[in-house]
Amino acid sequence: RRRELLAGFRGPGRTADGHPVALLVNLGAPHELAGAAAADAEGVGLFRTEFLFLDRAEAPGPAEQAAAYRQVFAAFAGRRVVVRTLDAGADKPLPFATAADEPNPALGVRGLRTAARDPQLLETQLAAIAEAARDSTAQVWVMAPMVSVPREAAAFAARVRAHGLPTAGAMIEVPAAALRTDRLAESCDFFSVGTNDLAQYAFAADRTLGSLAELLDPWQPALLELVATAAASAAAQGRPIGVCGEAAGDPALALVLVGLGITSLSAAPASLPEVRAALAAHTLAQCRALAELALRADDADTARGQVRSSMSAR
Ligand code: PEP
Ligand code: MG
Repeated sequence: RRRELLAGFRGPGRTADGHPVALLVNLGAPHELAGAAAADAEGVGLFRTEFLFLDRAEAPGPAEQAAAYRQVFAAFAGRRVVVRTLDAGADKPLPFATAADEPNPALGVRGLRTAARDPQLLETQLAAIAEAARDSTAQVWVMAPMVSVPREAAAFAARVRAHGLPTAGAMIEVPAAALRTDRLAESCDFFSVGTNDLAQYAFAADRTLGSLAELLDPWQPALLELVATAAASAAAQGRPIGVCGEAAGDPALALVLVGLGITSLSAAPASLPEVRAALAAHTLAQCRALAELALRADDADTARGQVRSSMSAR
């Protein structure tokens, strides 16, 4: 019965009063492509490109990369594809991109920082993305992982545009970036909040440690406050700001995120129907009221409990 009910909601994400919220899918491996493309989604909100680089002694060449990107763009013809450039390091070490001897890899040369040390790695990837985008109708947006300061975002956006790719953005997954999203907006066209890393860095809690799950809970009010700050800055600068971390797939939390000013949600294809239905059952004003409740809570459990019990019955 639940499935029948959900089947009644299709098409672009909207609140009950018609406020659009783009619903997108996360994509991280070739075997996910068919399912992702078949999902009722406006595109890909996070294309994790690491799979191309893992378990290899050297980075894949431009032709091999372009072929892989072309497949994804073809499957999403006419839709948006947000490609994240290589996010190596920390939980994704790569022998050719990251140092094996860093004492704290999560705080080391990872994400976009690897491009400062080896610019060719990023150049090759951008050239391959640009080549694949050239013969495709997909709207290709390119974003960098692990941006901390405006200078990094500006350097990245300049490289993206030098390859003829018009839309450059940054992930917001370091607290410094969340606090200063307005400054990043000087060079970025869009933003995407990675709640997994943003929680890790905000709470100084290793995201791979199950014993720290309570601190890493995406309902933590301090995490939501960082998202609110970033979203308000993005709105003031007229930039879209999505969430692509795992939090976006929780329907109750999705309402809160929209209430905080988030403009798109990217999650696993299977979680989108529930998120779409929750949005359709609440107005933007109701989402804002739920966001206020969550921000005022003292802890994650209280935030989650109060929001869930205040949601409209469906
Ligand atoms: C995140 O950090 O929330 C994110 C979406 O990126 P990843 O999980 O790939 O680090
Ligand atoms: Mg991340």
